[in-house]
Amino acid sequence: MAISVNELATHKILQDRVVLVTGGSRGIGAEIAKELAAQGATVAINYVSNADRAQEVVREIESYNAKVTAVQGDVANPEAMKKVYEEVMETYGKIDILINNAGITRDAKFVNMTEEQWNQVITTNMNSIFHLTKLVLPNMIEQNYGRIVNISSIIGQAGGFGQTNYSAAKAGMIGFTKSLALEVARYNITVNCVCPGYTFTDMVAAVPEKVQEKIIAKIPLGRFGTPKEVAKAVRFLVVDGDYITGQSINVNGGMYM
Ligand code: NDP
Repeated sequence: MAISVNELATHKILQDRVVLVTGGSRGIGAEIAKELAAQGATVAINYVSNADRAQEVVREIESYNAKVTAVQGDVANPEAMKKVYEEVMETYGKIDILINNAGITRDAKFVNMTEEQWNQVITTNMNSIFHLTKLVLPNMIEQNYGRIVNISSIIGQAGGFGQTNYSAAKAGMIGFTKSLALEVARYNITVNCVCPGYTFTDMVAAVPEKVQEKIIAKIPLGRFGTPKEVAKAVRFLVVDGDYITGQSINVNGGMYM
């Protein structure tokens, strides 16, 4: 099939770009990695434990003739993140685009929530973006270019029953995004959030079917989102969003406005 003029132009935009996607072995992160690789980007996908799934994503991206590598490392561990950063820098020499996507849930009603559940979610979902962004930013500043996209959540905007930890972390990401955007705009670095609604990945598949039905009943578009639909919003920010910074794009089927 012939490539349209638009596709060619987009391809060029990411051709020389290196992307690091945390949590790129499954779900939304894997789709973001594929979406950006399909536009010509070189991609490093980080994962924590699922080497097989990470290799599946690598193989698929290789089939687009894009450069790709999988890098193991726990985003909750600053030392591990330093190693991930160094490995990507050694392999590709730079990171132009950082997608802070890795995240977990540890749901419990607040009265039952343990300090461990609180800390796991805050450390993995929010402290991680402090550590990784701090590593990646100096090189972006030096090259006067950078795109950072943080994957927050509708739960950070609207709250979620049994999710005080997750909601706090995801709302924190939005505040972080707005403040950092102010600080780094002068270096041609944009920082934005994408806030997915309920998106069908392993995270949502783990929710009991009865609860899934109740959630769908509350979504104006009447279905869960797909990882691809979230990835397209990320692609828009990275490819066409040069004048967009400090924003949150909601990809939620109309569930929160
Ligand atoms: P999944 O559970 O499907 O995938 C999680 C990904 O994150 C995997 O690649 C996993 O790696 C990786 N990961 C988990 N913990 C760590 C860690 N400590 N260090 C490094 N990588 C880690 O999640 P989703 O795709 O559903 O979610 C992606 C992001 O989107 C998350 O931040 C989530 O909070 C957010 N989100 C998701 C929504 C949804 O409905 N699905 C809605 C709103 C936001 P491995 O395979 O090795 O375990």
